[in-house]
Amino acid sequence: MAEKYPLSGRNGRENAIVEIGQGSCKIGGGHFAVIAGPCSVESEEQVLSIAKEVKRCGASMLRGGAFKPRSSPYSFQGLGLDGLELLKMAKEKTGLPIVTEIMSTEYLKDFAEDVDLIQIGARNMQNFSLLKEVGKLNKPVLLKRGPSSTIDELLNAAEYVLRGGAEVILCERGVRTFETATRNTLDISAVPVLKEKSHLPVVVDPSHGTGYWNYVEAMALAATAAGADGLIIEVHSNPAEAWCDGQQSITPALFCKLMQKINAVRATLNNLGGI
Ligand code: PEP
Ligand code: MN
Repeated sequence: MAEKYPLSGRNGRENAIVEIGQGSCKIGGGHFAVIAGPCSVESEEQVLSIAKEVKRCGASMLRGGAFKPRSSPYSFQGLGLDGLELLKMAKEKTGLPIVTEIMSTEYLKDFAEDVDLIQIGARNMQNFSLLKEVGKLNKPVLLKRGPSSTIDELLNAAEYVLRGGAEVILCERGVRTFETATRNTLDISAVPVLKEKSHLPVVVDPSHGTGYWNYVEAMALAATAAGADGLIIEVHSNPAEAWCDGQQSITPALFCKLMQKINAVRATLNNLGGI
């Protein structure tokens, strides 16, 4: 019988290792990476100060949205190409590879030139024309699970990108359920399921996964213990004033403490042979 997911499925393969930023950062196959930064790029001062702080605390990539998918057209939509320039500047100053979301094929060339890890956001997980085009860019792709998508649909979406030749990192970021106490319901069980079904690295986003900063630490640690290959976490120096997703952003000080706990969980598990 033909394989269901010839490229994204495990099919007996070892865990894939994805290299980002000319090999300066690796994820998968025992390499753990934390992506941190603001939900959206707001200014040079904002992105640079957060980049320096998260780097000091052990983050290995900088996130920040330049093009933001917002539920309301009246909400801040991102700085666009100016935001991409600010991310580039933060990369030059800190050396951190940059992770940012592409929303339209209009900017393929800009992303191909400047972005180290191209994010496909949850809302675009099944934008098949975008998946096909981004897959041809020869840049790794962080593919977020759609808020109402099954694991089967996520692996099929990954298949679209992989067919173009790009490498893929899968991201669990919570799905919509009947629960209203959290923004989304973070499906931690997706981690062992994906690790079994696929050889691709799996990252968890506890920020969008819960929607509240005070739940981020617990879910980041749970995801680490469950065997995730990395995390993507929203960090803002002044969450109350953030232009986007402040309620789910942690401060750099909290991020530093969380990194210590993540490292402790990993070290403990590794001493016992890993998960
Ligand atoms: C984000 O990473 O800021 C974002 C919009 O994520 P998602 O696509 O998971 O909602
Ligand atoms: Mn966000």
